[in-house]
Amino acid sequence: MSSPTNEVLYEIDKKNYLPTFNRFPIAFEKGQGSRIWDIEGKEYIDMLAGIAVNSVGHCHPKVVAAIQKQAAELIHISNFFVSPTQVALSQKLTSLSGLEHVFLSNSGAESTEGTIKIARKYASKHGRGGTVISMGNAFHGRTLATIATGQKKYQKGFGPMPAGFDSAPFNDFEAIREKVIHNNEVAAIIVEPVQGEGGINLAHQDYLIALRHLCDEQNIVLIFDEIQCGVGRTGKWFAKDHYGVQPDMMALAKGLGGGVPIGAFLCSSKIAGAVDYGDHGTTFGGNPLASAASLATLDTIATENLCTAALENGQWFMDQLASLQKEFPVIREVRGLGLMIGVEMGKPAAPLVKSLLNNGVVANATAGNVLRFVPALNIKRKELEEVLNRLTTCLHEF
Ligand SMILES: *Cc1c(COP(=O)(O)O)cnc(C)c1O
Repeated sequence: MSSPTNEVLYEIDKKNYLPTFNRFPIAFEKGQGSRIWDIEGKEYIDMLAGIAVNSVGHCHPKVVAAIQKQAAELIHISNFFVSPTQVALSQKLTSLSGLEHVFLSNSGAESTEGTIKIARKYASKHGRGGTVISMGNAFHGRTLATIATGQKKYQKGFGPMPAGFDSAPFNDFEAIREKVIHNNEVAAIIVEPVQGEGGINLAHQDYLIALRHLCDEQNIVLIFDEIQCGVGRTGKWFAKDHYGVQPDMMALAKGLGGGVPIGAFLCSSKIAGAVDYGDHGTTFGGNPLASAASLATLDTIATENLCTAALENGQWFMDQLASLQKEFPVIREVRGLGLMIGVEMGKPAAPLVKSLLNNGVVANATAGNVLRFVPALNIKRKELEEVLNRLTTCLHEF
């Protein structure tokens, strides 16, 4: 019997899976580092890394070994008990972030939604309302509360939206100041220091510093969503470290488990003081298997100096991309931090993504015109060079 083709699997998938993803007719079967192969044996360079998830590349031997070892010992208990791997991970995350408490979850949306709950609890204890202000073009997930913080296009048809959400344009301090000043209803401000789905947009340093002061002055909880930009992605452990601004709460997920689903939110002891037993929970969150994968991922990032690698390779790659602008004026802007890179085009980037796939490069388009590159933090310079060659070929036809 011959093995199935991409097309055959694509058709079977289409029959069974809820039509929420407009998928490519490509079925991936194995990966190693920044290389990934489909079931017909075609090789790709992975510049998407499962949407900024495979932070140390596919099947890093350390992560594989940690998962195998833990799977043979203990996969799951419950959060009624303590596990050595979860204890080690909690210690690691609080010490890396400088935030004293952590809650482990299974995904990004679950983490941001957790920050909203705990921020509201803090606000209610301090006699404030529960309104959460998010940014224009923000993305915090796809659950009901998290789409209420996000773009209108994700809310259409899913009303009524949960109450208590408002938004202000990103990087516009006066706009948000006006909304919160002397407004006892506001509990929290949530912001991505580097917006991901919104098109790789960097917060201005003076903006985040001003938000910090505003929140201190008004006793509002400042939440950073570092689900995409955290865990080494931008060339430091967290994007906040580039800005020198400490939030009250921070959400993590994506790159945290090296591919195994795990999320986290962290908070200062000030915020934790508002939390009582029973306020929040999760069955799976931070179980021994996920915690072991996360520990191995964080250990790999540290021992292989992958923050520095992301910073240097990211800057080099952005410089190379910018130098393509002369030949291809369709490139409007190259922006990013570390290995979180957006190339804004003068037109929709979807056809470029398709032709990159044909040429053996996995990437994606976000915010319509922005080609997004979020490869593994340990991608090799040689692989980035190859991507530039293939991208140049694709740009000729774009
Ligand atoms: C991906 C993402 C989320 C949602 O994460 P899920 O794991 O898909 O729920 C939230 N915030 C940001 C900034 C993200 O990039």
